Amino acid sequence: MNRRQLFASTVAAACAPRFAAAQQQAQRALRGLSPVKIRDVKVFATSGGSRYQWVFVKVLTTEPGLYGVGSASNLEEPMAIVANIENHFRQFWIGRDVDRIDDAAMHSNNHVYRRGGAVLNCCLSGLDMALWDIKGKRAGMPVYDLLGGKVRDAVPVYGHADGRDMQQVGENVRKFMDQGYVHVRAQMGGYGGGGMVPPGQGTRPRTGYNGIAFDEEQYAVAIPKLMEYLRANVSQDVKLIHDVHEHLTPTMAVEFARRMEPYRMFFVEDILPPEQISWFANIRRVTSTPMAMGELFVNQEQWVRLIADRLIDFIRCRVSSIGGITPARKVAILAETFGVRTAWQEGGDHDPINQIAAYHVDMASLGFGIQEDNHFTPAAQEMFPGIGRIEKGYLYGTNAPGLGIDIDEKLVAKYPMVVNVPKEDSFTVRAVDGSPVRP
Ligand code: MG
Repeated sequence: MNRRQLFASTVAAACAPRFAAAQQQAQRALRGLSPVKIRDVKVFATSGGSRYQWVFVKVLTTEPGLYGVGSASNLEEPMAIVANIENHFRQFWIGRDVDRIDDAAMHSNNHVYRRGGAVLNCCLSGLDMALWDIKGKRAGMPVYDLLGGKVRDAVPVYGHADGRDMQQVGENVRKFMDQGYVHVRAQMGGYGGGGMVPPGQGTRPRTGYNGIAFDEEQYAVAIPKLMEYLRANVSQDVKLIHDVHEHLTPTMAVEFARRMEPYRMFFVEDILPPEQISWFANIRRVTSTPMAMGELFVNQEQWVRLIADRLIDFIRCRVSSIGGITPARKVAILAETFGVRTAWQEGGDHDPINQIAAYHVDMASLGFGIQEDNHFTPAAQEMFPGIGRIEKGYLYGTNAPGLGIDIDEKLVAKYPMVVNVPKEDSFTVRAVDGSPVRP
């Protein structure tokens, strides 16, 4: 042993007790914390005390009293999600390490082999949110702290103003402004409204469909007029949003975006169906009207080019529909890099846990743009202790460790889900010739 080796070994010997003590201290700190495994997965389906079709997941762990909750809601196919989790994923997830969130999603996707799709993504979302909830509880931190920490104090949301005519829409926009909302979505006459031919009117075939019918020419005249009215009579300052619900043919979508430019929209939403997103390049060439897209997206391939080529201004997937907080965080970071902002979708059918999951991503996202608002019934507010609160156009969570929201199982049992399968879906409208118009 030379002098240098002798010195090193003397120092090591002197430091060894201190290092060992530090190791023991770390092990003591982790005792009872790791490894924690998934012990069971419970699935709840509830009406929320109303007519919702909500599905939630509760992940129980090997640590007594430690569990997480997540949203797996999908209005259109709720029982497919319940069955998928109970019959396939529950056993696949039991025994997994609760720390390994992305690893669990990867294995679950590979497990089904043909990955992607709304049902699968909602199942994975339930697990993903619940595991983030657990991770936050173990760390003693709200989830947004684990995502890098908050970059804002609360989350701005937009309100939904509708009305049968321009005057009524204007009154309702003003009501939101009076409550403190800065961003308001303005629709006229509900889904596809503004372009509707009344029942029995218009030139129809001899027999067949005689109900309310969508006409895109009429729509592309009525909605810019509505915005002109709102700017002239309600406010020059309110940040206006409008949702097209994917009803337009591609060339009309380009023309409609151009016609909306004078009204300084905060964004125009879903101007094209997912199958026609290549047309966003045409829209970009002719107008600066900001575009938001993604409500029907379920796969990253659908948003990568739109973001990387800077063809949209807001990405607005539903957090639960793309697999939960982890994929939403990945999209948010990708979007931020390219100057595209987030506008996570909520909508009338959506649930308090998905809302609060989006809240945590929003709180930690520099690329945040806006969040869609949701308001819940008194029964739902009782069912979800820690439910988000909206005041003056801002969404607040509890900031408790994890997601900061819980499920009251007794109330869920009191309000079981009643599956509603309507003969007609609520999204398809028909043209005057009776043909379906794609939403
Ligand atoms: Mg929409």
